[in-house]
Amino acid sequence: MTNFVREASRRISVCRDVDVIVAGGGPAGIAAAVSAAREGASTLLVEQHGCVGGVWTTGMLSLILDFENKNGLMAEIVSRLEARGAGYNNERGGQVYDVEAMKLLLEEMCVESGIEIRLHTRVCAALTDETGKLTHLVTESKSGREAWQAEIFVDATGDGDLAAQAGCGFDLGRPEDGLTQPMSLMVLLTGLDKQQIAPWVHSFKPNDGIEKRSLLQTMKNAGITPSYLSPILLQLHDNLYAMMANHECGVLGVSADDLTRATLRARGEVNRIVETLRASGGVWGNLKLVATGAQIGVREGRRVHGLYEITREDVISGKRHDDAVCRVTFPVDVHSQKEGKAFDHGGVKAQSYDIPLRALIARDVPNLLLAGRCISGDFWAHSSYRVTGNAVATGQAAGVLAARCAANGESPRELARQTVHQLQPCSTV
Ligand SMILES: Cc1cc2nc3c(=O)[nH]c(=O)nc-3n(C[C@H](O)[C@H](O)[C@H](O)COP(=O)(O)OP(=O)(O)OC[C@H]3O[C@@H](n4cnc5c(N)ncnc54)[C@H](O)[C@@H]3O)c2cc1C
Repeated sequence: MTNFVREASRRISVCRDVDVIVAGGGPAGIAAAVSAAREGASTLLVEQHGCVGGVWTTGMLSLILDFENKNGLMAEIVSRLEARGAGYNNERGGQVYDVEAMKLLLEEMCVESGIEIRLHTRVCAALTDETGKLTHLVTESKSGREAWQAEIFVDATGDGDLAAQAGCGFDLGRPEDGLTQPMSLMVLLTGLDKQQIAPWVHSFKPNDGIEKRSLLQTMKNAGITPSYLSPILLQLHDNLYAMMANHECGVLGVSADDLTRATLRARGEVNRIVETLRASGGVWGNLKLVATGAQIGVREGRRVHGLYEITREDVISGKRHDDAVCRVTFPVDVHSQKEGKAFDHGGVKAQSYDIPLRALIARDVPNLLLAGRCISGDFWAHSSYRVTGNAVATGQAAGVLAARCAANGESPRELARQTVHQLQPCSTV
């Protein structure tokens, strides 16, 4: 086998020229695209999977965290889910939702706002001009290789794929060894009686995690120890539950080999857990697995360098900024990279702190914005702001800024200085 081959250069047709292109249709990408379109920008959203929503839908997350102090699009999504009976606030600290209803709602929001969506299409390259400005992104799909042109681009791929392809600097994993947080594969379950299962269902009422400990003990008693030692069971509606019970350690979300290995192992493990619980009988006797996520949940990818890096010190001190786009109220949440341990928070205690708009502006490419978990921050800060309430808020801010830049012909860094106050979509109270 030779180590390298050379691919012949080829002409690629340019499919569209729009104001704003958003790469990745997860919570951050949806928010960015809808906000840009509502500001009047012609907007294209490119998503690799067959639905939008990212970890909310293909990842079957089922729980929105750190959303309560966010108005704007986050509040709109929550109220529209509740209006169709597809979501409820779990009393304290989480909005539970029905995964299928979320898929449909997000698609409807995209269509209503006039976004052009391209599903089943992966961003695989970026073209820049002599000034370093991004001119086109290149995609691969069933239609082959295609190029798409825009004034402003938003990287909402979670892993910073577009930024990396465009030549941005980034960090990945812990500074000492590059390890990232483990991955987990979500599972939907049915066949449980609402009254009988209550002691195992995560309630979010102030308690000491008794339901999670009961679930772990029940699994152990049945004969299986899950790789995630703080397993969680959520009730989505009458007879539908979501469970997270596995940890895939030592794998990277930016390696296709790692993703493949982790997915195969995780799907095997969660099936074994369900079979073992069912075999234990009693309240679990009719347990059935409805679905596993089409995409394993990746907690951590590239953290792209921005004009500002949110740091551990910001989190500890509760840093405020004049250009805040939202306030994070979620704690540091590091799932342990060590097998046999659930968390590794390193004693870091967060106070509520701000995400500044500068953390969404790529340092190395002038017309590229960042949204969601790939924004600019260090390992510890990322473990706190990564949850989806903040992903939506950063997406909304990036989308508004992108549309205004495209309309005014100004760069994000020029415009952000002038219009900071109109870009605060989310309550900072
Ligand atoms: C197991 C797990 C449990 C979690 N628990 C919670 C929780 O309970 N509540 C909570 O709020 N948050 C939770 N989080 C955190 C949260 O899910 C993420 O940080 C959040 O998804 C960030 O949103 P995002 O839009 O940045 O990324 P993602 O949801 O990852 O979306 C990225 C999107 O981009 C697409 N994409 C990626 N690369 C490309 C490409 N090259 N071309 C085209 N499209 C691409 C993906 O398919 C995806 O749709 C959890 C995360 C994991 C993994």
